[in-house]
Amino acid sequence: MSEPRVIYWFRTDLRLHDSPALQAALDLDPATLWPIFTWDPHYVYRARGGLNRWQFLLDCQNDLSHAITRLNAKSKLFVLREAPQTLLPKLFKAWNVTHLVFEKDTDAYARERDEVVTRAAQEAGVEVIVRSGRTLWDSDQVVARNNGKPTMSISQLQAAGAKVGSIPRPIPAPSRLPDPGEMTLDFEQDPPVVQPDLNSDRRAESDTGYGQIAGPKGDFAIETMEELGFPSATTPHRGGESIALKRLGDIVDNHTYTATFEKPKTNPAQFEPQATTLLSPFLHFGALSVREFYWRVQDVVDSYPGKASSPPTSLTGQLLFRDMYFAAQAALGSVFAQTARNPCCRFIPWHLPSKRDPDTGLITGEYHVDSEQADAWFRRWKAGVTGFPWIDALMRQLRQEGWIHHLGRHSVACFLTRGGCYVDWERGCEVFEELLLDHEPACNAGNWQWLSCTAFFAQYYRCYSPTAFGQSWDKNGDFVRRWVPELKHLEAKYIYEPWTAPIQNQRRAGVRITGDGLTRREAGTYPKPMFDFAKQKAVCMSAMKKAYEIGLHGDDKAVLDGSWRSL
Ligand code: FAD
Repeated sequence: MSEPRVIYWFRTDLRLHDSPALQAALDLDPATLWPIFTWDPHYVYRARGGLNRWQFLLDCQNDLSHAITRLNAKSKLFVLREAPQTLLPKLFKAWNVTHLVFEKDTDAYARERDEVVTRAAQEAGVEVIVRSGRTLWDSDQVVARNNGKPTMSISQLQAAGAKVGSIPRPIPAPSRLPDPGEMTLDFEQDPPVVQPDLNSDRRAESDTGYGQIAGPKGDFAIETMEELGFPSATTPHRGGESIALKRLGDIVDNHTYTATFEKPKTNPAQFEPQATTLLSPFLHFGALSVREFYWRVQDVVDSYPGKASSPPTSLTGQLLFRDMYFAAQAALGSVFAQTARNPCCRFIPWHLPSKRDPDTGLITGEYHVDSEQADAWFRRWKAGVTGFPWIDALMRQLRQEGWIHHLGRHSVACFLTRGGCYVDWERGCEVFEELLLDHEPACNAGNWQWLSCTAFFAQYYRCYSPTAFGQSWDKNGDFVRRWVPELKHLEAKYIYEPWTAPIQNQRRAGVRITGDGLTRREAGTYPKPMFDFAKQKAVCMSAMKKAYEIGLHGDDKAVLDGSWRSL
């Protein structure tokens, strides 16, 4: 039998430490190993990742590439600029590949993509090896041990996880890597490669150097922001396995912080440094192994002399939430991220900001109540000009940095949905999808369902105040002053409700509270609140009560055929 010639396909695992899939590739003792990353139009065009996430991805790729080169001077992360579904079948043949190895990805799109690639590999006689490594337990095994059902609570996850087995200990990074082989691209003339264009929802076919699979210089280099035509990212948070391991090391060195961490006690208004670990973007790109995170923390907890916290509020408890959403998504597939046809998601007839068909100009939306008013509220929420400083500060931090504290996410998500604007959670989820560094389809959709009380959580009468909640953490409003500089000099007693400040106090603080936030804003002004929160909260509560009483879910016939309107 010929010596293994292996493509190692990096996707959700931009690291060398604790990578079961990479270890499986090395266990083949291959003569040749190509570490590759392929462009995937799905993420570029459909998911519309923002610039900050792009920068983070490039950081992770560069860091990984250097780490590979340190183990083998002939190797690096080879970036190939074509969709894997069309590219890999050509590589199998041209490079005489015997094995394709990758980490399992249970995201709905990823499953479809991997099925296509796996079929092509089988046709080409290439053996495919897949290993789970993105979650604490293999999500499909968790689902199987949960009787094929989605995990809708931490206790379900813990019970199913215990049946799967103990969480594996991390494995060390490799100490050497094989040489890559020749990388001929004789087939390069066929399908045109697409060029990412952040300003367009549609694919733009490239007639430039981007059309080359190996990049403009033909060296499979990692793309740069300039080369992609992107302006600079605005986030201060940088990616890469080295930064992730250093940060995790610093965190676990602080035994008291690590062992006594209780999420509800961490301050969402604390910044520079933030109150939680900010390791989520590294987990998203796989620059940090979740099992490495889990066990480094658990070891500290086990040896801690005092009283340690425990799940679900502890640090390891946070990682269980992540696994819970991954397993719920693994069970439900693509319907997990939407209400329609999702049996676990309550149907609420939200106001849907009018979304117009670009061709016909008609308002689209299958079963929602279209509302111009909701449209304006949605746009103000997204732009961080609602007139509620706590909400605006959070939304501006999200846009600028790509990360906000979990309770900040609670605040803005509750406000947009059941606790203020009554806008469909899927619209908020889309905005987070664009702006978050750590955007994870399962965690994003799952948490939006939680906050909108459509799944996972049902206490819709417990609502976040857009004024009192921020104030309870940060009396002086330092977080608001940082992100809403218009209000920087306003006295603390008005900072969460600036519209209540008398004109002379506004004048002294150099700000005027006026306008709707959407029409052109004059310098030195901050908008009026977009509604009376107490009144709007009452409207939302009674609408939620009614929806709960009717009790429809996304897969009910009345929802799908629109007959819910007559209920
Ligand atoms: P820490 O508190 O330090 O927690 C450690 C790790 O545990 C995190 O890095 C994360 O991987 C995991 N974790 C913590 N809380 C949760 C949670 N509630 N659900 C799932 N995993 C959790 N998290 C994402 O990773 N991607 C998302 O797209 C995402 N979207 C969200 C949307 C909304 C509306 C809300 C309310 C929460 C969302 N979260 C998401 C969960 C959570 O807010 C972030 O994981 C967390 O704030 C990341 O910061 P950290 O790393 O400092 O977290």
